[in-house]
Amino acid sequence: MNDHVFDCVIIGAGPGGLQAAIYLGRYNRDVLLLDRSGGRTWHSRHIENVLTHKLIAGSDIIDRGMEQARSFNVRIERKRVAAVRKEDLFTVSTPDASYHARYVIVSSGVYDIIPPIKNALRFLGAGYYTCIDCDGYKTTNRKIVVMGDVLQSVNIALAMKQMFTKDITYIPYRLSLPDSAEEVLSEEGIKVVSVEPVSIIG
Ligand SMILES: Cc1cc2nc3c(=O)[nH]c(=O)nc-3n(C[C@H](O)[C@H](O)[C@H](O)COP(=O)(O)OP(=O)(O)OC[C@H]3O[C@@H](n4cnc5c(N)ncnc54)[C@H](O)[C@@H]3O)c2cc1C
Repeated sequence: MNDHVFDCVIIGAGPGGLQAAIYLGRYNRDVLLLDRSGGRTWHSRHIENVLTHKLIAGSDIIDRGMEQARSFNVRIERKRVAAVRKEDLFTVSTPDASYHARYVIVSSGVYDIIPPIKNALRFLGAGYYTCIDCDGYKTTNRKIVVMGDVLQSVNIALAMKQMFTKDITYIPYRLSLPDSAEEVLSEEGIKVVSVEPVSIIG
């Protein structure tokens, strides 16, 4: 640890953290961006509908964003933040260093919980999807299975039918479905199959 005090330490170099870094850099703030790498954006082979890009790889967004942030003197380090403490200043610690800052922005993203189904990772973003907004459109007029372990997944199945396709099978994954939910799905012509999937064949 040294005595240097950053105006801001940003945790996470996804679109959120990078956009914050670019703006703070443009406000001539002294910014450190810490990222352990491998977030949600990085893993997305195809990001669609970002303004001005019909299709772009997530890793391209990150690479270009980092270049843009560096051009405004943002310092970027590949490090995992292990702890943040607040006294007069913030102290942000990684396994081998600590940094002081007046402000901290946490932009560490979310991560998808992938069920233990064989080949799920192999097909992630290519037939197996986790985000209705990102990928629902690709299923337009196709035959799909919607699977979920919370009741909200019933709403996803209903929304999929409203927007994208009528040929839907719903699988309650380790979820006991109330009769009322079964009735709504049945009224909408969505088949319910109560099984535990073990593999995606492709
Ligand atoms: C298959 C797929 C397709 C997608 N398609 C689209 C699409 O078409 N359109 C769209 O708008 N969105 C799409 N998304 C969603 C989009 O990628 C994310 O929602 C969005 O990019 C999240 O940005 P973020 O900055 O919040 O988080 P992230 O991109 O996850 O970035 C967070 C960063 O924080 C870092 N981090 C986390 N913890 C720490 C720590 N302790 N120390 C240091 N660093 C840390 C991570 O390593 C990561 O780099 C898709 C996602 C997936 C998985």
